Amino acid sequence: MKYITVLGSTGSIGQSTLDVLARHPEQFGVFALSAATQSEKLAEQCLAFRPRYAVMPDAEHADVLRDLLKDAGSLTEVLVGTEALCQVAADDAVDLVMAAIVGAAGLLPAWAAACAGKTILLANKETLVMAGDVFMRCVAEHGARVLPVDSEHNAIFQVLHQSDTGCLNKSGMQSVILTASGGSFLETDLAKFPSITPVMAVKHPNWSMGRKISVDSSTMMNKGLEVIEACHLFGLNADQIEVVVHPQSVIHSMVRYVDGSVLAQLGTPDMRTPIAYCLGLPERIDAGVAPLDFFRLNALTFRQPDMQRFPCLQLAFDALRHGQDAPCVLNAANEIAVAAFLRGNILFTDIARVVEDSLDVCKLDASATIDELLDKDAAARQCAQAAVQRLQAA
Ligand code: NDP
Repeated sequence: MKYITVLGSTGSIGQSTLDVLARHPEQFGVFALSAATQSEKLAEQCLAFRPRYAVMPDAEHADVLRDLLKDAGSLTEVLVGTEALCQVAADDAVDLVMAAIVGAAGLLPAWAAACAGKTILLANKETLVMAGDVFMRCVAEHGARVLPVDSEHNAIFQVLHQSDTGCLNKSGMQSVILTASGGSFLETDLAKFPSITPVMAVKHPNWSMGRKISVDSSTMMNKGLEVIEACHLFGLNADQIEVVVHPQSVIHSMVRYVDGSVLAQLGTPDMRTPIAYCLGLPERIDAGVAPLDFFRLNALTFRQPDMQRFPCLQLAFDALRHGQDAPCVLNAANEIAVAAFLRGNILFTDIARVVEDSLDVCKLDASATIDELLDKDAAARQCAQAAVQRLQAA
């Protein structure tokens, strides 16, 4: 029996994780669950999975959860705050940690899991974008393990991973090819981009995801974050990563080799596949995913990403090539810009402007510790807020 802490259990990835876990009750026990605002949903999950702990970052939501659980006679103990999130990620009783909190808030609990030498199922790509070098060093120093949940990175991992040694075989590898759906606005007239609303941007053509990543997908910032994530996960540089727009999201990513071979992983677009792969390693376990039906597939198509249409992707490549704290600033500014767009404070096309302005204004150093990176994240958020205010005033 393996025990798992699911951080962000009420989100899209969290719920898919619980769905897979529920199919294998003999193999997995739930040690802790966490959420930020959805006390009722977390209470339901606690009653179904009976974790030892449930954690919420603030007392107000935690109090609601505590009352709900008490009324239902649950034995789950409710904890509050970031320290408690770190505690349930690092507890001795935990084997696996699903890191599925959205945004920079996911960094510290993932860091705690790494310091405690856990196997981390990493969905929270922002951790690697903010702090990739420092985080991967911590993973190596403490004998932790990172298993990529992001479907593209999981696809590459499936191609490279050797089940006998557990190592990645990069022999003869030339590049990785990240596929991208291109999001909801691949065909939209560019002149209409300023009138894209939050409701339009959170609808993804192929995947069902949280609001922030859905907007990131429609700007292709998501692919930019994934390019940076791939560099850290697989020890690559920007020139070893290709991005190919593949609107059907059937090929989840590929690896190109020096002999002309290209190996791919395919499947129905459903996050339960990569989640089950990470949970089951070294075995494959049932994920409840519909089999890929080749006879019902339309053509699989591919095209180059258009950097004019998707300036956020270019900004991410630029930040990666610049190095130092640029990816950390990019990530923080993007979070602020997406939140402002979702509140209706700025236009869709302003998201890239806020990120670009923040990268121009914010001082870029080479932060070497998590604390320095958290300071840089806070400074970048201030730059981005100022950019949002300037755009609102204009
Ligand atoms: P959701 O928005 O659906 O869920 C986020 C989860 O994090 C929820 O449980 C939420 O709680 C919790 N949360 C939000 N803010 C905080 C906070 N400040 N402190 C603690 N917990 C918080 O996101 P997704 O599941 O879509 O994405 C999660 C992560 O996985 C992201 O980093 C995303 O980039 C990555 N990812 C997602 C994919 C997908 O298909 N969804 C694919 C690949 C990667 P509550 O619901 O109570 O507010």
